[in-house]
Formats: sequence, structure tokens, C-alpha cells
Amino acid sequence: MKAIQSIRGMHDILPDAVHVWQHLERCLRDILGAYGYQEIRLPAVEFTELFARSIGDVTDIVEKEMYTFQDRNGDLLSLRPEGTAGCVRAGVEHGLLHNQVQRFWYQGPMFRHERPQKGRYRQFHQVGVEVFGVPGPDVDAELLAVTTRLWRALGLRNLRLELNTLGTPASRQQYRERLIAYFEEHRAALDAEALRRLHENPLRLLDSKHPETAAVAREAPTLLDDLDADSRAHFDGLRGHLDALGIEYTHNPRLVRGLDYYTHTVFEWITDELGAQGTVCAGGRYDGLVEQLGGRATPAIGFAMGLERLVSLLLDQAAVPEVTGPDVYLVVPGDPGPQALVLAERLRDELPGLQLVLNCGGGSMKSQMKKADRTGARYAVILGAEEIAQGTALVKSLRDTEEAQLTVAQADLAALMRARLERQSGGRDR
Ligand code: ATP
Ligand code: MG
Repeated sequence: MKAIQSIRGMHDILPDAVHVWQHLERCLRDILGAYGYQEIRLPAVEFTELFARSIGDVTDIVEKEMYTFQDRNGDLLSLRPEGTAGCVRAGVEHGLLHNQVQRFWYQGPMFRHERPQKGRYRQFHQVGVEVFGVPGPDVDAELLAVTTRLWRALGLRNLRLELNTLGTPASRQQYRERLIAYFEEHRAALDAEALRRLHENPLRLLDSKHPETAAVAREAPTLLDDLDADSRAHFDGLRGHLDALGIEYTHNPRLVRGLDYYTHTVFEWITDELGAQGTVCAGGRYDGLVEQLGGRATPAIGFAMGLERLVSLLLDQAAVPEVTGPDVYLVVPGDPGPQALVLAERLRDELPGLQLVLNCGGGSMKSQMKKADRTGARYAVILGAEEIAQGTALVKSLRDTEEAQLTVAQADLAALMRARLERQSGGRDR
């Protein structure tokens, strides 16, 4: 029988890779906590209409990337392709947004039916951040400070920030018309999809991946001339804050984001080290979305980062901390029965935080010592027939051949291990 495999573009993350993910997630959690962001946990499935209404009908995501299905009640549901829509839905539903400032973050798998390639998967993971209730550019700058701090904490290099403003819907309306007129002049060079979207969503053409359309887009007029005074002030304000913080950026007037809901600030953090899939974090302001989803008008801004791309950058740039083995591997030749389990539990009770692996399944002394070594454990604690008879255990360093092995009473084992492990880790908390 043919073995069942995972779905194309949906990957297992195996134990030997998980430490990189945990390192990234820990850094993220710590930094977001330091800025007062609160975690919110959201469902992976929502009504399809939520995404159609927020992301926009004429977008890649809604037109061709969503996993949409009818559930047994006949409701049309989709696996979430991104987290902002669900976060806003939850905020409105639970009355968390009106007249309040909220700083949220979330994490989890997202689903898009795209062509799988390096850095592009059908199930991928994001950490997203959303701030509600702050209209000014100060919070835009704060979000960029959060990301800057994260890259620094992770030791990531060569990430650049591209920034743009999409103005207010009113200024965009004028721009739309200029853009349509411009693309109409170059109809002959546009691909079919671009032609189809031209009148509905001309901004989308600006980040077309079709080479000839992209060439036309590169010469397209920019929004800058259509910016109204408010939009200009917001953008100038943000630039001033970033300069004061020493956060470098380039203004890319052609940066538009893939979703319809953005207003004012949009940005991307990009690397050239991951090939075509170089955007590791992207976001922007979406002042109209809460109202569009049935809440009261609330300014908002957020970003999402692609964890697979960050993990791959961490590995490429060798910015991953070493994996350490357990503190202790408990070697139990001669099958001491429950005594081994009991001793292991006692040690875990007496030394909170101790990482101890018990040899299960028997085996000779030699094979158990081999296994101990393979786990990368710092110590083998050996409980052989003689030790059992005498109520002792034998402690042997697996890393430091100079360190003498020592027989101790089981009652003194925790104190001895505490002293040895503390000495070696320079007082790691336990
Ligand atoms: P791209 O231009 O790469 O398709 P996007 O604009 O569709 O990105 P967003 O919706 O802004 O992406 O998602 C935010 C981040 O999530 C991206 O910058 C990227 O790091 C990550 N991401 C998006 N789609 C995928 C995917 N299919 N596989 C892996 N990561 C992804
Ligand atoms: Mg995409």
C-alpha cells in the first residue's frame, strides 16, 4: 500500500529544527511583551465573507489562494490566509476596540494555495501584530522600532526597510484615475490579469510579477502628487520619528501591499539573501477596516512576519544558538524496575528545571552509555545493581574527562547535581 504523505506545500517541522523556531518565538514573545503587546489567540477558520470583505475581492489571496469549503451546515468557510481580518473580527465582536488603545499580537499557521517554492508554502506561519486606537505616526514608528529590536536580538543582518504612504482613500481615488489613464496608454504591454484588474483595482498592477506589466508599472506615476495635507503630515511625522530613532529606510513610492485595506503607512522588511521570497515582514496602516467590518471607525496599524523566511535567514546567517542536551541521562543497567522511575521523579522534584532523561527499555551498560552520549547529556547518573544495593548512585561527567566520577548517597544526589550544574552554567537558574 502506498504510504500517505503530507500535502504539497505543507511541511512537518521536525524536532531537530524546532529549537530554531522556539528561539525565534521566544525572542518575539519577550520583545512584544517588553512593549506591552498582549497575545490574542484566534481561530484558524472563519467565514469566507470576512476575508472577501477585508482583504478585497480583487486580490490574489481572495481570487485564487484561499482554501474555501462548505462545512456540513452549508456555511462557506475558509482557512485563514492571514490574521488581521480575524483579529479585527474578534476585536469588534468582543467590544475591545472602541475608544481604547489595544496592542495585540498573535501567532499561528496561515493557508494559501500558492505555487510552493523556497520561502512560499501552502501552510506557513506568521506572527502578526495589530494596534488599534492610535491615529498618529508615533505608533507606526513604534512598530518599526519593535521589528528593528527583534532583528538586533536575533542577530539578523542585511534587512532593509522600505516605506511608502498610500494616503487616504480620497487621495487614492484621484491617484487611481491617473493610474488607470496611464495604464490605458500602455494597454498593449499588459497581461490578461492586469487588464482584468485595471479598472477595479489599478494599484494591484504596481506590484505585478508579470515582467512586461512590471516594466510598465515601474514608469507609472506615483501617489505622491496626489497626497492631501493630512497624508503628507502623517508620512512626514513618521519619517521624523524614524530619523530620531536612527531607523534607516528607503522611501519606495511603488510599494503597495497585496491587500486592499491599507491607508497611509505601508512598509516591508526585505532581504536579498532569500532569493525572490525576500520580504520577511510586511504591514501598514488600515484605518478603514474596523468600520468596514462592522465596528465603529477605529484607526489601526499592523504587520505580519513570515516565520519560515526568518527561520531560513537565521540558519543561513548562523544566528542560531547551540542546542544543549539534557543535564542528566539516568543509566539503569540490570533493569532496576520502578526504582529508576522513582529516583528520576525525586530528582525532578528536588531540582526544579532539571532536564533529566531516563533510560527506558533496558539495555546493557555499554549501550545505555552510548545513548546517553548521543543525547548530548552533561552527566550520566548510573544506577546499577551495586548502587541500588547501597542506596547510592554513580555520577559521571560526559563532557569533562578531567572531572572525577563520584559515588554519592541517593539522598545527596540532588545537592551534588545542583552544585555541579550551577558551577558549569555560571549559575543558570534552576
Ligand atoms: P509575497 O509578496 O511574498 O507573496 P504577501 O504580500 O502575499 O507576500 P503578506 O500577506 O503581507 O504577504 O504576509 C506577510 C508575510 O508573510 C510575508 O512578508 C511573508 O514573509 C509571509 N508569507 C506570505 N505568504 C507566504 C507563503 N505562502 N509562504 C511563506 N511565507 C509567506
Ligand atoms: Mg502573496
